[in-house]
Amino acid sequence: MTHPAQPTASHFINGEYVEDTAGTPIPVIYAATGEQIATVHAATPAIVEQAIASGQAAQKAWAKMSGTERGRILRRAADIIRERNHDLSVLETYDTGKPMQETLAVDATSGADALEYFGGLAGSLTGEHIPMGEDWVYTIREALGLCVGIGAWNYPTQIACWKGAPALACGNTMVFKPSEATPLCALKVAEILHEAGLPAGVYNVVQGMGEVGAALVTDPRVDKVSLTGSVPTGKKVYAAAAEGMKHVTMELGGKSPMIVFDDADIDNAVGGAINGNFYSSGQVCSNGTRVFVQKGIKEKFLARLAERTGNAVIGDPMDEATSFGPMVNENQMNIVLGYIEKGKAEGARLVCGGERCDMPGWYLQPTVFADVTDDMTIAREEIFGPVMSVLDFETEEEVVARANATEFGLAAGVFTKDFTRAHRVIGNLEAGSCFINSYNDAPVEAPFGGMKASGVGRENSKEAIKHFSQVKSVYVRMGDVEAAF
Ligand code: NDP
Repeated sequence: MTHPAQPTASHFINGEYVEDTAGTPIPVIYAATGEQIATVHAATPAIVEQAIASGQAAQKAWAKMSGTERGRILRRAADIIRERNHDLSVLETYDTGKPMQETLAVDATSGADALEYFGGLAGSLTGEHIPMGEDWVYTIREALGLCVGIGAWNYPTQIACWKGAPALACGNTMVFKPSEATPLCALKVAEILHEAGLPAGVYNVVQGMGEVGAALVTDPRVDKVSLTGSVPTGKKVYAAAAEGMKHVTMELGGKSPMIVFDDADIDNAVGGAINGNFYSSGQVCSNGTRVFVQKGIKEKFLARLAERTGNAVIGDPMDEATSFGPMVNENQMNIVLGYIEKGKAEGARLVCGGERCDMPGWYLQPTVFADVTDDMTIAREEIFGPVMSVLDFETEEEVVARANATEFGLAAGVFTKDFTRAHRVIGNLEAGSCFINSYNDAPVEAPFGGMKASGVGRENSKEAIKHFSQVKSVYVRMGDVEAAF
């Protein structure tokens, strides 16, 4: 019998599901059991061509609709997503392995938030009038054209919407390629957008590995590329986009600092460290994986952290009592196990976890290392798994310098009751998404994205509009033209 997660077909192009079984089969494995639950096929060159051609053909008419009309469709899609939150959450859990406790609260709902927010903004995307004496200049905010979205595997519904919603609100069309590890959810997003009235060709989904992403990025008909992925992939995609002088948004990896001063509320700081390291089994780009704790409270912090980490309910992700699920796939589990071994070998002190769980599926224990030093591999490289490094510090000046001593600059957090210090420290940290006495909140109203190697551009908020549109400036002369001859 076909598993309920099996999609109607692999791709969604020009308003309908499309299959081409000549493409390499991509098995969809449920991370909680290791079973294959579905198969999709990577896009062949013919499928890539079909998707790009339909995105390009649909763009002009879509951009010519009023913003209010475009927005209405996006907002209708948001309503449908909310109505079907339960089913979409089940699918997200099948795609990623994340527990329903999370997917019910965060995934489809944050996708709906983006569609609602950018749908609401679509009617107000206007230019300016700039008086020049008798003459004037006016500006027009125009769409870029055909955009390509490429997603990572940790938030497949959210990423499909975070890229699609602002792109479509501005009058662009999109071809979206999900990660090969999580191909299911973006298809549902496309289906729902069309059910809400989206014209055929405006939002297309094609499956595939890196080569399909590369084929999309290098196509001369593509005007913009928005990638969520790792820094090495980001460098390749940015370089390929530069070759065609295309616009880019790069949402890449991180090794973000979370700084806990000795006056902080310990339970809030421990809660922030848990959210910022163990949510989605640590597969979150903005995680605060370097937890700097001021020396005076170190042992108290670690004791409370170990106690609360012990309360994680590890098990069946479909059970709403489960609060900690498996890694997305076996490969990612093995990468993270490799980092755990490096942490042990390089002399970090294992406080809790550190092993694979003795059960089917790709489960790791939530892991905390203390006495981590800046030179250890686990403090330098993005692990993308449930591995927290706790580092000691003494002074504010020292911790700011150490927090910034990384190529990454995605996120940063500070826990303290001294608000003057909180704002001063945040002001000195090189990171795009920051938190005071909190960690990892990402509402659609707030800009999201990284500094340094962690990215270019911003998602969400009005900032995203700037990255999915361009400005045309028009000088209007009322009098005669003066010329030298
Ligand atoms: P990857 O960089 O491996 O892949 C990202 C996407 O790019 C995938 O769809 C991948 O396809 C595709 N891809 C790979 N090579 C190319 C290429 N040459 N040209 C075009 N596309 C290509 O990242 P992961 O999927 O492993 O995701 C984890 C990473 O994503 C982490 O570094 C994490 O920090 C980052 N991330 C960043 C976020 C942010 O907003 N800043 C949010 C979430 C994750 P395929 O998967 O099929 O290989």
